[in-house]
Amino acid sequence: MKINLLTTISLFLFSLTIYAQQENQFCGTRVPDDAWENEFQKLISDYKTNPKSQKQSSTVYTIPIIFHVIHSGQPIGTFPNISQSQINSQITVLNQDFSGNGFNSSNYPSNAFVNWVINQSLPTTSIDSNGRVKIVDVGIQFCLSKKDTSGNLLSEPGINRINYLSMNLPNPSSYSTQATMKSYLDDTLKPQTIWDVTKYLNVWITDKNNALNYTGVSSVPPLSGLMGIPNNSTDSTDGIWCFAKVIGSNNLYPSGIYGSPMVEGRTLTHEVGHYLGLRHISGDAACATDYCNDTPPAAAQNIGAPSYPLNVGSCSSPTNAPEGEMFMNFMDYPLDPYKYMFTADQTTRMQTAMLNSPYRNQLGTHGLCSAPLGLNILNLNDNISIYPNPAKTELNINVSQNDINELSISNLLGQVLIISQNKNRIDISNLPNGIYIITISRGQLNQTQKFIKE
Ligand SMILES: [Zn+2]
Repeated sequence: MKINLLTTISLFLFSLTIYAQQENQFCGTRVPDDAWENEFQKLISDYKTNPKSQKQSSTVYTIPIIFHVIHSGQPIGTFPNISQSQINSQITVLNQDFSGNGFNSSNYPSNAFVNWVINQSLPTTSIDSNGRVKIVDVGIQFCLSKKDTSGNLLSEPGINRINYLSMNLPNPSSYSTQATMKSYLDDTLKPQTIWDVTKYLNVWITDKNNALNYTGVSSVPPLSGLMGIPNNSTDSTDGIWCFAKVIGSNNLYPSGIYGSPMVEGRTLTHEVGHYLGLRHISGDAACATDYCNDTPPAAAQNIGAPSYPLNVGSCSSPTNAPEGEMFMNFMDYPLDPYKYMFTADQTTRMQTAMLNSPYRNQLGTHGLCSAPLGLNILNLNDNISIYPNPAKTELNINVSQNDINELSISNLLGQVLIISQNKNRIDISNLPNGIYIITISRGQLNQTQKFIKE
């Protein structure tokens, strides 16, 4: 009894240590619960056995991303208001990493996991021509969204710059714990700035408190409307947050603003893995499962600059001998240059999420990766002005020709909140503070403009 109790306490403390190790590195993503995983496993099973799903899996998805760059008035290119070029380098990293051509992937040892593959009798889909666990092309790519939620062409593709002072929002770097940062993100920043989660992958980029011990956190793909499946995101919180200094690639764009040692954009690669249903390689406990058969079990997340083979025999059931742990997988924690692969079973999870999750399965179908063809939607030009912006109680519309059909105000989700009969002035005193879109209908034209209510 005493031994059992001691064993229990030891195991408990060991679990806490493992947990603390995970959280101390760079990822704050919540471990999915069993109910979610059970439901996801059913969908994976359907995906594997349904020929229709497999046919669709040959499609390459392209996910539009909007980076919400949160700043307090710094010039573009000054931290944390990072430049378009730095963000462009991040998109290149994602597209290389998800197609199996990531930075340093040519360093994959020619004998990596060959004997382990033989011992585990892995299916051929998981094996490359050298008999190793394969570095896969996931079949998912990314673009910087060309358009905002109203269909307007973005002046900087994929970028929505937000001065938090103008929105009366708190400073993101004032939160030093996971709990307070999570609350700030989910209760304040995200709901006031999020774009339609069925159309965009929302990525918020901010400064952070030095004491905050992670640099990225992601939503897990929701699986509802299925009753009883708890999800960790809603249509006002779904997406990814990252510290501004881990976005982009020092290798591709050395003029960027980076925080050593995570300087090759792999934090976002890792978080997008979570966003598409992947778990940490260790299964978030000692030698636990990540529900992928082609990733050898690991005793814990690996950090730093490991070399192959690593921690041979650290897990026994199943064993990871004779070649050890797959630290080079994106879902482990080594420094950016040392991880460069996803596997076939990880691809199955991500493709299953793209096919089934209600916040994932329409991504890439709205034409947001290409510029609009028509000119029926215009930014306001010299003929019309709205003022003041930001506004507190009313918005004035000054138009050179008196040909306005209708004025309306909608939120960023596209929900119309006000339709005004007055063509020169709109009372906005009842709107909560935030960003809105005014739409001015003139003849066949809908002209739109964002404004801030404060
Ligand atoms: Zn993680």
